[in-house]
Amino acid sequence: MTASRLHELMSIDGLLSEEERTIQQTVREFLADKVRPHIAEWFEAGISPRELAVELGSLGLLGMHLEGYGCAGTNATSYGLACLELEACDSGLRSFVSVQGSLSMYSIWRWGSQEQKQEWLPQLAAGRALGCFGLTEPDFGSNPAGMRTRAVRDGSDWVLTGTKLWITNGSVADVATVWARTEDGIAGFLVPRGTPGFTTGDVHHKLSLRASTTSELILDGVRLPESARLPLAQGLRGPLSCLNEARFGIVFGAMGAARDCLESTLDYAASRVQFDRPIAGFQLTQAKLADMALEYYKGLLLAVHLGRLKDAGTLRPAQVSIGKLNNVREALQIARTCRTILGGSGITLEYPPLRHANNLESVLTYEGTSEVHALTIGQELTGLSAFR
Ligand SMILES: Cc1cc2nc3c(=O)[nH]c(=O)nc-3n(C[C@H](O)[C@H](O)[C@H](O)COP(=O)(O)OP(=O)(O)OC[C@H]3O[C@@H](n4cnc5c(N)ncnc54)[C@H](O)[C@@H]3O)c2cc1C
Repeated sequence: MTASRLHELMSIDGLLSEEERTIQQTVREFLADKVRPHIAEWFEAGISPRELAVELGSLGLLGMHLEGYGCAGTNATSYGLACLELEACDSGLRSFVSVQGSLSMYSIWRWGSQEQKQEWLPQLAAGRALGCFGLTEPDFGSNPAGMRTRAVRDGSDWVLTGTKLWITNGSVADVATVWARTEDGIAGFLVPRGTPGFTTGDVHHKLSLRASTTSELILDGVRLPESARLPLAQGLRGPLSCLNEARFGIVFGAMGAARDCLESTLDYAASRVQFDRPIAGFQLTQAKLADMALEYYKGLLLAVHLGRLKDAGTLRPAQVSIGKLNNVREALQIARTCRTILGGSGITLEYPPLRHANNLESVLTYEGTSEVHALTIGQELTGLSAFR
């Protein structure tokens, strides 16, 4: 198999512990059986992997790197490798797991009260309940500090009013972490599904992340007790810390999408004959394959490096920006170039590159656009903020 040479050439596995390799292999085998045979169909039909939640939970993939409350408590690198395998299937599936673990569960785990943790984390870890994370609004995406959703005190209660948009798993979630402006700055609230005044609707006609639910959350005078507020979260630091967790998973995940594109393209190029020889034998094809392999290996090495920094407790947000910007951008370029090697076959769902490319357009935009990450890196390098 030509595809296996991609894996063997750089022996990056040698940088991983036995436990990390076992976790990665277990996730890969589970997905090969349960997801891979169906994913193109789910993408076409716009079906999100909700019914897989309990199985993902029993594998320990939900809130995987969190400690306690029924979470697996693996190291960060293992979590990254699981994201890589999930996104090798589809970015929608990885988004599902990222939102559940890194946005919804992490927001509760990091900023919640003991009661909130005990109520929600075990069922979210088991996949018996789903969570979502509402930060973005119709008029405030890259600049969440401008958000209009408000939480106003009324006696001992809070009353929330506003709209959130582009919320992954919004309409299927049992609990939404909603960020809102209060008199004392931005605060987070846990809004259970079915709370009066809280409704959701789905975004339709998507050309990207079709195997994922994307929703609008409408809060129309939603009354919540004080016990629904995340007591430790104050200001934008709360939501940004959660985004940083999810971005870390994307650094690995994007390389999973790249690997899947490369593997399928290497096999295709070896068997597709034009001008009486496999197209893999043409110099122009090999130049494309070599360039893509370089970026894939570099991206993977960067991901493992950032994983090691996270496990050492020293990973900084700007370093995650470097990983997210580079790896998503390069994965998207790899997906597009693979598509060219597949010729006409590349425009169908029979082969994964164009599905991955379409998905990666969303990944390039969410969790901080590529421009926002470039500005973060620029600020780190120059000491000057160019956001405004
Ligand atoms: C499929 C999908 C799922 C998502 N899931 C979630 C979710 O679960 N929860 C959630 O809260 N959000 C979610 N989002 C929202 C996502 O985080 C936002 O789309 C993203 O932050 C960008 O915001 P925006 O779409 O409003 O674009 P805008 O902020 O309007 O940006 C438009 C363009 O302007 C550029 N731009 C903006 N400001 C600057 C600047 N200062 N300098 C240079 N360029 C700039 C941007 O980089 C971009 O190219 C999701 C989005 C998608 C597409």
